[in-house]
Amino acid sequence: MKQIIVGNWKMNGLTADAAKAADDIGAAMGQDVSGAQVVICPPFTQLALVGPKLREHGIALGAQDCHQDPCGAHTGDIAASMLRDLGVEYVILGHSERRRDHNELDETVREKAVAAAAAGLTPIVCVGESEDQRSAGDSQEAVGWQIQGSLPQGFTGIVAYEPVWAIGSGTAASQQDIADMTQFIREELVRQFGDAGKTIKILYGGSVNGRNAADILPLANVGGALVGNASLAAETFMPIVRAAV
Ligand code: 13P
Repeated sequence: MKQIIVGNWKMNGLTADAAKAADDIGAAMGQDVSGAQVVICPPFTQLALVGPKLREHGIALGAQDCHQDPCGAHTGDIAASMLRDLGVEYVILGHSERRRDHNELDETVREKAVAAAAAGLTPIVCVGESEDQRSAGDSQEAVGWQIQGSLPQGFTGIVAYEPVWAIGSGTAASQQDIADMTQFIREELVRQFGDAGKTIKILYGGSVNGRNAADILPLANVGGALVGNASLAAETFMPIVRAAV
């Protein structure tokens, strides 16, 4: 199965920057990256612009959130069907920045995952321990609770392990920590979903770059990467795509 390399542009990208990044990344796609499925998640405001540019090069379009309801009185929110309507195929849910900035709870993330799947989107549900949980030795417990709370019955999407302390820090979790935690996540998924849990892809995210990708991507339970900063430009993103195995 192909690895999935997902670029999360977060709240970055005015029109000119987004168009350039999408054009550059598209132009750099070629035979040597056919081992990876690449997904770019721009801010909502750039989905319509960059979608066609990316699709032309076999890159899928993703979004960074959706609302849990199909439509209605939710000022400022975006429904999963609206994303699908724009050609979006993936949606990141429960990112730690949304859990922090918008008080998103596991239960809401779970409802969003149901709504996303119902609209035909593949949810990428993020889990990961905070610095405090890590120093207290509670990483596995914290991630275990998030998995139990954030993934709905019959979940068939993707799980992204993003330790909060590694995001934007410039230092990824160690190879051993990623191997241990993704193994733990795999066991939790199998406990929760039986055999179906064996095939759910697990991505690693948190300061992935062109130098550490080759250490992280070959790990047994790692099915790809969720990339923030390094996904904003082709020069920093493509080395990660090329490291996919
Ligand atoms: P960085 O790659 O910038 O650490 O961000 C990771 C992330 O949060 C992706 O969703």
